[in-house]
Amino acid sequence: MNRLAEKVALITGAAGGIGAAAARRFAAQGARVLLVDLDETALQEVAKSTDAMSYCVADVSQAEQMAACVEATVQRYGGLDIAVLNAGIEGQVRPITDYDIATFDRVMAVNVRGVWLGLKYCIPQIARRGGGSIVITSSVAGLSGADNMSAYCASKHAVVGLMRTAAGECAPMNIRVNTVNPAPIETRMMRSLETGFLPDQPDAAKAFITQRIPMQRYGTPQEVADLMLFLAGDESPYCTGGTYTVDGGMFCR
Ligand code: NAD
Repeated sequence: MNRLAEKVALITGAAGGIGAAAARRFAAQGARVLLVDLDETALQEVAKSTDAMSYCVADVSQAEQMAACVEATVQRYGGLDIAVLNAGIEGQVRPITDYDIATFDRVMAVNVRGVWLGLKYCIPQIARRGGGSIVITSSVAGLSGADNMSAYCASKHAVVGLMRTAAGECAPMNIRVNTVNPAPIETRMMRSLETGFLPDQPDAAKAFITQRIPMQRYGTPQEVADLMLFLAGDESPYCTGGTYTVDGGMFCR
């Protein structure tokens, strides 16, 4: 019940499927949690279940906004031990030759710049506590190619590079940095991608994707949150610089 007792966590994309599951899991294990997202209505819904959570409405790709969220965490809770840099967008489903340039730029801004800014502002605060853990949400698309998802795939590879660099820079500060790399998870994002792959037959798109997964199902947000909890807390003291799949066996194919 108290795997994160006395810990303070900041979670981005916390109004979405995976981020909200992580926030609930962390709070249930004793953490105080600062939720960051663009969607205030959804943030209110997540935060209302417990007074262990509060929120900041912010765009993670904007430096001042990200810095203000980190500052708010320290002001409200006295410090920062854990950051889950999880906010992300999927972009379009189409080949590189047809891909919209502005969408490419936006995916990179949220998924890569947003994570880099999170690292930039969270690392000094976690260091002030004597160490902690940073978990970045990449994807199986951060480990292998993903046809028709060039910006998303590039962004999820990029954060693996950021994670490996940060792990080296942060080890002397006793801060561990890892990625989680999920396969398809039951959230809004997969509904959007299924419609992108087969606009008139999203159920057929889901069936096609599912048969590529050895366990023959999507994962749940809670299954990703459980891996985040392991990496965020004190049960993984020698784990840093790693990519951790939670994928029903998909990446081993
Ligand atoms: P989701 O769409 O439910 O949640 C994403 C959240 O990020 C949303 O609440 C959204 O408002 C927020 N967000 C988007 N842009 C933002 C910005 N600029 N600033 C702040 N918040 C912003 O999707 P999810 O499945 O929960 O995705 C969470 C993370 O997991 C993403 O990084 C995604 O790429 C990754 N991921 C998801 C899957 C999957 O199948 N669902 C698989 C692998 C990786």
